[in-house]
Amino acid sequence: MPTTILLKNGTVLLHGENDHVAPVKADILVSGNKIAQIGPDISAPAADTVVLDCTAKLISPGFIDTHHHVWQTQLKGRHAYHLLLDYLAPGNTAGALFTAEDTFWGQLGGCMEMIDGGTTMVLDHAHITHSPDHAPKAISATVSSGIRSVFGYCETATVTSWTPLTFAAAPPDWFVPQLVELAKQQPFGDGRVLLGFAFDSYFLPKEMVVERFERARSLGLQLITSHYVRGPIIGQHSVVEMLESYGLLSSDVVFSHASSAPPNDAILLNKANAHVSATPDTELQMAHGFPVAFRDDLFPVASLGVDCHTSNSGDMLTQMRLALQAARGMHNEKFVAVGKNPWTMKHTVEQAFNLGTIKGARAVGMADQIGSIAVGKFADLVIFDTESPAMICGAEHDPVAAVVMHASVRDIETVIVDGQIRKSGGKLLPVAGLNGEQLEWKDVAKKLLESRVRIEAEVQKIDMESAKSRLMESWHMKQENFVDSL
Ligand SMILES: [Zn+2]
Repeated sequence: MPTTILLKNGTVLLHGENDHVAPVKADILVSGNKIAQIGPDISAPAADTVVLDCTAKLISPGFIDTHHHVWQTQLKGRHAYHLLLDYLAPGNTAGALFTAEDTFWGQLGGCMEMIDGGTTMVLDHAHITHSPDHAPKAISATVSSGIRSVFGYCETATVTSWTPLTFAAAPPDWFVPQLVELAKQQPFGDGRVLLGFAFDSYFLPKEMVVERFERARSLGLQLITSHYVRGPIIGQHSVVEMLESYGLLSSDVVFSHASSAPPNDAILLNKANAHVSATPDTELQMAHGFPVAFRDDLFPVASLGVDCHTSNSGDMLTQMRLALQAARGMHNEKFVAVGKNPWTMKHTVEQAFNLGTIKGARAVGMADQIGSIAVGKFADLVIFDTESPAMICGAEHDPVAAVVMHASVRDIETVIVDGQIRKSGGKLLPVAGLNGEQLEWKDVAKKLLESRVRIEAEVQKIDMESAKSRLMESWHMKQENFVDSL
């Protein structure tokens, strides 16, 4: 692996004051895992420097995905008609059907899909801790892929029976000792993979919630991440207000969704510098409420995530575009509904680009290390081919618009994470498998297909409708809140 990479003659998207993004013709020198120099006419410092000609290429900071369940790959394709309640048993709880080995391949596949799409950092809500072997395998796959991650070790509910669907009342005996041990061992993968904590059990008494937050913080975990979806499934209470009242709301907390968050939540989140991750694809489909990324009071603390690559695309280009166009659509519709036209366009491509880059870095507490291209930051870079059919001419006129409005995964030619090339010439480079063997993507794909067959055989044994009913009962959902017309 090269220790020095020189990107010659590219158009570099540089962040300036007030998060303004400007294209600058420049070379970039990567030394080790950091950006060492940005400027004109940089010479290769050593004979073994890898020099990439970036003429007609656009160089962007790597994208940052702040909410993703990375392990789920083998379950792709089955949620196209699912609302949140439909998804819970065959999507979320179905993780209990994964062996630790299945988890490795699912996690590796998820990470590789992200790198293919230019995501270089993910906040992983890893609700896959179904045995003491699951989380270590998932971490190992994350390391193998080369991505940067905060692995949100999760207090996943243990399934004790599928018929009827029943969960253990408390986490298993090994859970806390493993969390403590992993916290001691971190970081993993040469510093790329940090440990975080994923927590959703807000039904617990206050002292138990406080205990978990204090433990995570005393162990030095990078972040605490929680789902927050107000509505008939989880309930109408504010988790933000709850954490504030417990004295726990702080800048290390990232809430996924926060759709329908009341105005007071926005005040509390901004005050605490806690963040939200909007995931437009799943939120729009599954009736979470409208994505909050462009909401005026939440934009300062907003970022974007994929959530479920089993239900929708796993890349941040799609999330940036969807968040922007959905917000514009909602704004425009207010005028259309009363027979008017808006005079001006609301929301910019630059804001969308920032949600996927520097604002994601702020959400994960790493704005001084990632999220923009600057000397001293980690070399997490995405190189687009501006002469592709999709990007041609667009990058000449407005490179940020070319990325947000025109680019697809296909246009991403090279991805560098932590100074290492992980995608080159439009193709993912080999990774280490379960036993350290070198695998091409097609080998990983073969493993995923084998694993999917095994998991699907287990899924077929389960009555998912009965599981859904049991979830409604045990989570105290009211039947009258689920209707097909108003
Ligand atoms: Zn989620």
